[in-house]
Amino acid sequence: MRDWAWRGPERRAYTRREWVSATAASMLITPLTESAEATGAVPSQQPASAPLPLSQFQPRSLLHVGETRVQRARFPVIDFHTHVSRRRAQKPGVPPGELVKTMDAVNLHTMVNLTGGAGDDLAGAIAGFDQAFPRRFVSMTEPSWTRAGETGYAAWQADEIGRAKAAGAVGVKVLKTLGLYLRDGGASGKLVRVDDARFDPMWETCGRLGLPVAIHVGDPEAFFLPIDRFNERYEELNAHPDWSFHGKDFPAFKEILEARDRVFARHPKTTFVALHVGHWAENLAAVGEMLDKFPNVHVEIGARIGELGRQPRTATRFFDRYQDRILFGTDAVPLGIETPQQVFGEDLYRIYYRFLETEDEYFDYAPAPVPPQGRWRIYGLGLRESILRKVYSRNAERVLGRKLITA
Ligand SMILES: [Zn+2]
Repeated sequence: MRDWAWRGPERRAYTRREWVSATAASMLITPLTESAEATGAVPSQQPASAPLPLSQFQPRSLLHVGETRVQRARFPVIDFHTHVSRRRAQKPGVPPGELVKTMDAVNLHTMVNLTGGAGDDLAGAIAGFDQAFPRRFVSMTEPSWTRAGETGYAAWQADEIGRAKAAGAVGVKVLKTLGLYLRDGGASGKLVRVDDARFDPMWETCGRLGLPVAIHVGDPEAFFLPIDRFNERYEELNAHPDWSFHGKDFPAFKEILEARDRVFARHPKTTFVALHVGHWAENLAAVGEMLDKFPNVHVEIGARIGELGRQPRTATRFFDRYQDRILFGTDAVPLGIETPQQVFGEDLYRIYYRFLETEDEYFDYAPAPVPPQGRWRIYGLGLRESILRKVYSRNAERVLGRKLITA
């Protein structure tokens, strides 16, 4: 291709390369190479550098937008999703008195300790947390999965839930053990399905005793897909391949949710709180349909503001429509956790408050140099006060059937 340029009084045709070289010589810029010219590449003032590993790429946003610092929540908060107590066999965790200092600093009134365990573990959690700091901590019990293969388990587990309530448990927590890890007959046995009939007496007892069930089954949709270049959680899965539920004999993502929904349908008098935005924060339309179908179900937002905050308009409509059924939660763990989105501390709560209370744009959803659950940032929802009050505490108080915030 030829371009025209003026040089002196006479007009003649130059090739683009001749013209660029001549101009570059006078302007001290790097001339285009033959191949760059051929490909139309833009000339650079820097020599090409070595490839940068994705793990080392930590871009800092140059967006100049307002930043609101929310030091304390506008209203007292109940965090419905925390893990604070330890099993007797584990090393001790952070003493509750220390946790309370952080809680006071950020206006966090109560932590719901979901993993209180059973038997002596539960008794220890209730004595050490719930009774030592009344209304600042409440604990839930957990089913004894290891006994699920024993004869008479169904009835025993149902009775055990009754004993846990008598001991002071405020609900029952179901970990993703159910559906993804629990197998009949040892490690090589068949996975036990979420809607296995042997748990029906337990679900029924929860409803009869007014104990809500905080249920986590499944995991992010990306964890059920191949760990390849198309997976939006590639870095996270690459660092933790054991988090992947792709292949082997794992059920498909939707199969787990369908089994869970059959449990919701079979036990309409039992209140369920589907943690992590009903396990499908990437698809709020589907979560909405589920909530429409099952009036006995609520959702909680722990460790999913990265998903909610990247779809702020859809999420705002979701909070508006389901404002009576969404509970605040973080999935916080005070000690020994590697995932930044779960590290208990003032920073974590301030991000959640900023997300819910402000209309700030494009900020980190976790206290970490690189967004840990996918490389994107989030936008605040700026919820109005009436919705905030419900999400922060009122919905949780109703689900738990007790008044926790007295001030
Ligand atoms: Zn959790």
